[in-house]
Amino acid sequence: MNTAPHRTQDSDPRSVLVASDLDRTLIYSAAALALDVPDAEAPRLLCVEVYQGKPLSYLTETAAALLDGLARTTHFVPTTTRTVEQYRRIHLPGPAARHAICSNGGQILVNGEPDEEWRRQVTGRIADECAPLEEVRAHLRHTADPAWLLKDRVAENLFAYLVVDRALLPGTWVKDLSAWAGPRGWTVSLQGRKIYAVPKPLTKSAALREVTRRTGATRVLAAGDSLLDADLLLAADRSWRPGHGELADEGWQAPNLTALPERGVAAGETILRSLTRAAAPDRA
Ligand SMILES: [Mg+2]
Repeated sequence: MNTAPHRTQDSDPRSVLVASDLDRTLIYSAAALALDVPDAEAPRLLCVEVYQGKPLSYLTETAAALLDGLARTTHFVPTTTRTVEQYRRIHLPGPAARHAICSNGGQILVNGEPDEEWRRQVTGRIADECAPLEEVRAHLRHTADPAWLLKDRVAENLFAYLVVDRALLPGTWVKDLSAWAGPRGWTVSLQGRKIYAVPKPLTKSAALREVTRRTGATRVLAAGDSLLDADLLLAADRSWRPGHGELADEGWQAPNLTALPERGVAAGETILRSLTRAAAPDRA
């Protein structure tokens, strides 16, 4: 976008901002693909992330072409709970995003670099409203069982997450953690093998509002699959979620939300097709 003079007419597709979650919304690990067709009919996949020398995340080639088009015609804003370092491993099709939201809203990247002023604002709000990260980590250490705890991590000194063995994780553990964390200003989300504990003011939607303000976008479309995407989906004019993930498992609905039946990497393709259609000027 940024060299062309900015126009604000609704008919200008550039006035549309598309904020999408990445993992299990647009990109999928091998374990999350959920391909339900015979191998001979499986779509060709494009690998967009390599981790420790091995392919990790994919989208279909059709999804890749749709994303390329979307990134050329809208303000496309990758919006993820990943840290900046984890985000930088992903190489999405299309031109580089001018803005990206990382660390669940704790970081706004502008042309790939963190915006320090935004980070300061977010840190201040968390310090005012939430129990300290160390208290949450201590609680996690005391209650998590090494029998199922695989990794215990802090993301950019903002929030904590655990990698767990889901087969051995007791059914009530996440619920109990949520009940403990809620009154302390923290929220809990279970996504695949990861359990996130995130300060409540650390949201994708707060960062989205800031990016929307900066770009002057007049219409916002969003997509996401997990509890940490709920506020993002509500903040948009229209939003989509796949048929898998925390929100689908809960049957979560909203008036502006389209709940798609597709699951796995096929859902990523449908989401991109829906976003492309909704962003087209004649739909404005
Ligand atoms: Mg996700």
